[in-house]
Amino acid sequence: MDNEKKRSASFSKGLLQSGELYQYVLETNVYPREPELLKELRDMTATHPRAIMATAPDAGQLIAMLLKLINAKRTIEVGVFTGYSLLLTALTIPEDGKIVAIDMNREAYEIGLPVIRKAGVENKIEFIESEALPVLDQLLEDPGNENGFDFAFIDADKINYWKYHERLMKLVKVGGIVVYDNTLWAGSVAMPEECTPEILREGRQRTLEFNKLLAADPRVEISLAPLGDGITICRRMH
Ligand code: SAH
Ligand code: CA
Repeated sequence: MDNEKKRSASFSKGLLQSGELYQYVLETNVYPREPELLKELRDMTATHPRAIMATAPDAGQLIAMLLKLINAKRTIEVGVFTGYSLLLTALTIPEDGKIVAIDMNREAYEIGLPVIRKAGVENKIEFIESEALPVLDQLLEDPGNENGFDFAFIDADKINYWKYHERLMKLVKVGGIVVYDNTLWAGSVAMPEECTPEILREGRQRTLEFNKLLAADPRVEISLAPLGDGITICRRMH
């Protein structure tokens, strides 16, 4: 293969071609700048049987930057787990900022709560133990919430992502940002179905459907950033 061909072949594989390269990014750029208490929460979560669900720190770093860039004050979080992305958001938004954080399971949140308290940011968080959809609908019943949020991070049941999106297009203001997590679903979106491990198949299908709808949605500008498990950043245009 000549050099030109070699280059385009390797470029077409995307940037992160190895676990070593991912470790390089984490160790040089992410971990050294991760706030101490966020690291503590991440370490506490590491022994949880479902630790893999926590937001990837490199994706978290971009989320924090987005929050700062748009001066986000009021945010929504769907899918809290032990609170990595929640604490990250609470540490990033201003003192008078507020997060509506929804998870149908409070148990995992209780694990991270002592660290959130230690960080002195619990006052910014309204945790609601519930299925997310009825809470978003309830928020919409108050006209004051329409266009009332600057930012949302969605990291829960993929089957409902589009339903969340429809609600968020009313709750988040024009110019606001919604970030969806796991939009590359462990890379399975680009695998033929028959080569996809059984455990990934359903999520792969949901993710393919959601990504397609989002890509065709004229209400948002989008960027699928291949950080963590893939995060799609949407900016509401109208
Ligand atoms: N953002 C978290 C990870 C979330 S994991 C972090 O950074 O650690 C996904 C979470 O979504 C789980 O805690 C699960 O309880 C929650 N979840 C799943 N389906 C849900 C639903 N329908 N409504 C609300 N929460 C849901
Ligand atoms: Ca996730």
